[in-house]
Amino acid sequence: MFHKVLIANRGEIACRVIESCRKLGVASVAVYSEADANARHVALADEAVLIGPAPSAQSYLDMAKVIAAAKATGAEAIHPGYGFLSENPDFVEACNAEGITFIGPDAAAIRAMGLKDAAKARMEAAGVPVVPGYHGEEQDPGRLELEAEAVGYPVLIKAVAGGGGRGMRLVEDAAHFLHALESARAEALGAFGNGDVLIEKYIEHPRHIEVQVFGDGTRAVHLFERDCSLQRRHQKVIEEAPAPGMVPEVREAMGAAAVRAAEAIGYSGAGTVEFIVDGAGGLRADGFWFMEMNTRLQVEHPVSEEITGVDLVEWQLRVASGEPLPAVQDDLAITGHAMEARLYAEDPAAGFLPAVGRLERLRFGPARVDTGVEEGDEISPHYDPMIAKLTCWGEDREVARAALARALAETDVAGVVTNLGFLGRLVGHEAFRSGDVETGLIGREVDALVQPLEGGPLFALAAVEALGLGEASVDEGFALWQPFEWPVKLMRGEVAFEGRVAALGGAAYRVQIAEASFHCERGPKGWSIDGQTMQAHAERIGNAVYVYGAEPMVFALADPLEGGGEETSEGAVLAPMPGVLRALHVREGDSVQAGDRLAVMEAMKMEHVMRAPYDGVVARCAVTEGDQLDAGALIVELEGEES
Ligand code: ADP
Ligand code: ADP
Ligand code: MG
Repeated sequence: MFHKVLIANRGEIACRVIESCRKLGVASVAVYSEADANARHVALADEAVLIGPAPSAQSYLDMAKVIAAAKATGAEAIHPGYGFLSENPDFVEACNAEGITFIGPDAAAIRAMGLKDAAKARMEAAGVPVVPGYHGEEQDPGRLELEAEAVGYPVLIKAVAGGGGRGMRLVEDAAHFLHALESARAEALGAFGNGDVLIEKYIEHPRHIEVQVFGDGTRAVHLFERDCSLQRRHQKVIEEAPAPGMVPEVREAMGAAAVRAAEAIGYSGAGTVEFIVDGAGGLRADGFWFMEMNTRLQVEHPVSEEITGVDLVEWQLRVASGEPLPAVQDDLAITGHAMEARLYAEDPAAGFLPAVGRLERLRFGPARVDTGVEEGDEISPHYDPMIAKLTCWGEDREVARAALARALAETDVAGVVTNLGFLGRLVGHEAFRSGDVETGLIGREVDALVQPLEGGPLFALAAVEALGLGEASVDEGFALWQPFEWPVKLMRGEVAFEGRVAALGGAAYRVQIAEASFHCERGPKGWSIDGQTMQAHAERIGNAVYVYGAEPMVFALADPLEGGGEETSEGAVLAPMPGVLRALHVREGDSVQAGDRLAVMEAMKMEHVMRAPYDGVVARCAVTEGDQLDAGALIVELEGEES
């Protein structure tokens, strides 16, 4: 076994690899960019080396810097994780030239699978079924159009160098072919520097089922299948193992084909053979076709680990250090069912736009959690916005599904918009519950999955938390709150919710919002509303109220925003809530009049304008544009007359 391994990655996968190193008594070296100095993977590793500024091209993708870090620390091997340098054959060769072991397949195997057209030709020759289509060298648009005709519409145009669902276009009929070809090529050229494409039959009712393989360079075994059909724009959202509806005969055929694929290229280490499956009439032994092979550890590997009990990273370390494959095929078996959900900092309501910000709160429900961040960390725009993977195991599919639903509902995230509610609705969706999965499900149902449910009682919950009634003891409540009725105004995006909260005595309140009225009572299990104990709970951080639970929501308290920032008697204008300073409109020495714009903050996808509370002179600007501010942070100090 190695003594010391460098992990050429960041985030959850770097942490995951470090944990297996620990378990095996292997010392770990992290590398990090300037943006990641305080990252979890740096803290977890035994040593850490700064390799450059935030942009990946100057840090995590810089081969020379990564290799120099390995040599400087005496690491004998490099684990590439996924993404970054993990599928770069030049990097493998550069490692070998320095006498460093690359933990993964050799450069030739990566090259064989690097381009989809060459990979398909190679697999066809090895007797692996491939999706019917054209994967020749000819790239003339007229020729490709003829090939598409021969394949038969609908067809898929795919960038041969593609990945992450980019450079791919579904074409329904001949009239749209040339236009789609042009846009696929342009996207591929921009993203991969290679505009070549292949044409594939579009499989109707497609399911994505992939097989985890593991090779020693000669022989390979498989660790069964994963179903990754729940995708949004060809990107996986929820993965599970085994595949719903899988039968032994088909599993055996797919496993054998995947092993054949790995052995055909002398594969060493962990890899994934992806198949597209026609899900129309149940799974068939002649109804699956090779799409591509990913020559690395896959994001969704935890579900395979949960059903087989195998630590795939441990296997990677063992085999790369020269040990034989830890198991033969007959040693491997499936126990139960596992499901993984990818929690992202993104805004489903805004077309899944990636979100940034500080994780003011981060608490996970019961699950295996693979994460690279902790409460207080920032999700920056430099890297993948994944916050965590939550994986749940159960004795059967429904038990695993229910466990995942609960884990999601009991996960609290504040400060950053996430897809948590979307994931929860997806896991509860009738088609998913019944195992009726296919890649088009999310696209068809996206409106229902994104549209938050009617949140009446949740608004009431937010209102009582906004007023701080969740904490006050009964006696305090009466002493402090005079008179016994208060207005409350909550903003959700652009929409305002105005209402009144009245104390009824004890820990009971009546909340009136628009036409609706709610009876809220605080008890030992949290709030009950109209007699129902709430599964959700809420928390106020600064002037934001977060509702946690199956329908996570965030509200801004409207009043302090309208009045500008919070200001103190000393003329200090403070950030009303955590967020990013988008614009600073004044400089030190400027004269301002009451109501002038001082600064604009962005928090929770909304812009908040801070205005001068009175006429005066700007004595100090404490921040610069782009700063991430805590609630209460000083923005501007004003000298002048409070009128
Ligand atoms: P990438 O390299 O971007 O992952 P893939 O070839 O693996 O590209 O395809 C990504 C996704 O696109 C698949 O998971 C599947 O949902 C869909 N897809 C790919 N090929 C086909 C096909 N021939 N028919 C239907 N859907 C397909
Ligand atoms: P406790 O709070 O008593 O430690 P948890 O329910 O948080 O118990 O679970 C303990 C650990 O077990 C978790 O950290 C997680 O790794 C794992 N775990 C819990 N539930 C599941 C599940 N359904 N599937 C997979 N792993 C789980
Ligand atoms: Mg793929």
